[in-house]
Amino acid sequence: MQTHQYDVIIVGAGGAGMRAALESSTRARTAVISKLYPTRSHTGAAQGGMCAALANVEEDNWEWHTFDTVKGGDYLVDQDAAEVMAKEAIDAVLDLEKMGLPFNRTPEGKIDQRRFGGHTRNHGEAAVRRACYAADRTGHMILQTLYQNCVKQDVEFFNEFYVLDLILDKDLAIEDVPEGEEVAVAGVVAYDLASGEIHVFRAKSVVLATGGAGKIFKTTSNAHTLTGDGMALALRRGLPLEDMEFFQFHPTGLAGLGILLSEAARGEGGILRNGDGERFMERYAPTIKDLAPRDIVARSMANEVREGRGAGPNKDYVLLDLTHLEPAHIDAKLPDITEFARTYLGIEPYTEPVPVYPTAHYAMGGVPTNITTEVLRNNTDVVKGLFAAGEVACVSVHGSNRLGTNSLLDINVFGKRAGVAAAEYAAGATIVEMPENATSAVVAQLEAMRQRPDGERVADLRRELQETMDRGAQVFRTSESLTETLTVIQGLQERFSRVSVQDKGKMFNTDLLEAVELGFLLDIAEVVVVGALSREESRGGHFREDFPDRDDANFMSHTMAYRRRTDGADVDAAGIPPHETRLDTKPVVVTRYQPMERKY
Ligand SMILES: Cc1cc2nc3c(=O)[nH]c(=O)nc-3n(C[C@H](O)[C@H](O)[C@H](O)COP(=O)(O)OP(=O)(O)OC[C@H]3O[C@@H](n4cnc5c(N)ncnc54)[C@H](O)[C@@H]3O)c2cc1C
Repeated sequence: MQTHQYDVIIVGAGGAGMRAALESSTRARTAVISKLYPTRSHTGAAQGGMCAALANVEEDNWEWHTFDTVKGGDYLVDQDAAEVMAKEAIDAVLDLEKMGLPFNRTPEGKIDQRRFGGHTRNHGEAAVRRACYAADRTGHMILQTLYQNCVKQDVEFFNEFYVLDLILDKDLAIEDVPEGEEVAVAGVVAYDLASGEIHVFRAKSVVLATGGAGKIFKTTSNAHTLTGDGMALALRRGLPLEDMEFFQFHPTGLAGLGILLSEAARGEGGILRNGDGERFMERYAPTIKDLAPRDIVARSMANEVREGRGAGPNKDYVLLDLTHLEPAHIDAKLPDITEFARTYLGIEPYTEPVPVYPTAHYAMGGVPTNITTEVLRNNTDVVKGLFAAGEVACVSVHGSNRLGTNSLLDINVFGKRAGVAAAEYAAGATIVEMPENATSAVVAQLEAMRQRPDGERVADLRRELQETMDRGAQVFRTSESLTETLTVIQGLQERFSRVSVQDKGKMFNTDLLEAVELGFLLDIAEVVVVGALSREESRGGHFREDFPDRDDANFMSHTMAYRRRTDGADVDAAGIPPHETRLDTKPVVVTRYQPMERKY
């Protein structure tokens, strides 16, 4: 076992982690730990754009952007955080431009901007061009630009190191720590994929930037690696997760596959049609039609299919029609995603409409933070030295439904804030002692899974989890579907305690790490479903057929989910220890905009 010591440890080398590293590494001794080589992070798969009210092509301002974000999130957005994001958006884009990002340009040489769902002028009057972009590979360009600048700045990386535990000075999953009492971070425990060795990283500050958890679903736009690690690590140590029931289903996944076709396709003029050729969004969102926010479009599509107006032999998808666009325009603005349609479905988008259906895309919930990115351990206290940014976090700028292009923005704005805050905290802090047994839980779990000669197979459990989540917790949810899903998840957790891996070796044992990731997925799926069951209303991405209306009187608050171990002990074998999930609420921060009915 090796021990390292840094001022700041950043877990994750996606957009949020690397943006944080660029700030932190100039101020404090910083290392970035990433289970992937940095440029393989999912940020690199982002397509459509990053928004900011630059007003380069149309009148716009940050206040309209704030309003759209709040309304898009169905009023569950913390408005102070949305204001910060919309105001700092402009510098976030200009920072990237200065770092060398090749944005598309207007004929005058300014950064070009395109339309995206839910982004409007003057509080909903008409769609506005707010998304800055680099063709349909904006995330790729952001990730490469940030990585190049990290290299230039000599940021230290530990690549293909998996963080498997978060160490606090008190384990809140076991101990009662009264409100107001100080709890601090001590570091993380990681596993080196190449050698199979355990490494302990002691640090004054830790930034969680581990991204999303889309792999709890079968049909998803997310990469295989998005297994909710950072969220699960926090949950297991007794920290809350906020608003996990809100998961975004992106309207245009390739039918049957879930691979994403960016909303930029509709921003550039693409139209959704049902099996009868009808532009059905005119019925659901008469003003902005196909550019309504994602929750509304996804639900409308699913509804067309349910009511028998789907396309294809089984009428189980709808069509994204680009055939009226000039091929040259498609090639210039949407080259990658049209290639996906050709490669994966054998469809020629110049002449044929593309079959699409909603795909699990984005976790609105996550590790709760304040606007300085400090992680909360309850509604008021922060964990000293612990920060989170990006998709793993819930600073609540997305509320119950994220607007397209607001996540690439979120990771830049709050990634930067996290880097500054973590370094500043470290400057005045001392390293917290690690408990003596800091690595024992991780080592015991890995050894149990490796040594068990025979047992449950990871791939089987994962498939069952993903299929049950698609069946019971997707676009449409009911008490019955969710209860059934929860029962399946609990059964899978029990079977997970007998999981065994085929590869018994130490070096490059990805089999073993997939088993660990499955444990994270099971944790996260449970919290999503428990939250969805208790939220007896429909809001944003969470639609309950048995409670189809938004209910501000009873549910205008954030959900905070906590896990307590009921055996009082540490994890001593593979498996999820006996636990209970407790739900609490947290008030929504309202500054300027009182909740209204959401119409587009
Ligand atoms: C296909 C697709 C297209 C998208 N398009 C857009 C778009 O156009 N506009 C927009 O705003 N948003 C878009 N999004 C959403 C947006 O890209 C993501 O929400 C955002 O990039 C997440 O960034 P992140 O830095 O939080 O996480 P990621 O980029 O996912 O990075 C996570 C990092 O954490 C590391 N990590 C995870 N677990 C561990 C662990 N246990 N130990 C060590 N390291 C770990 C990984 O190695 C990785 O480096 C898209 C998403 C997808 C999937």
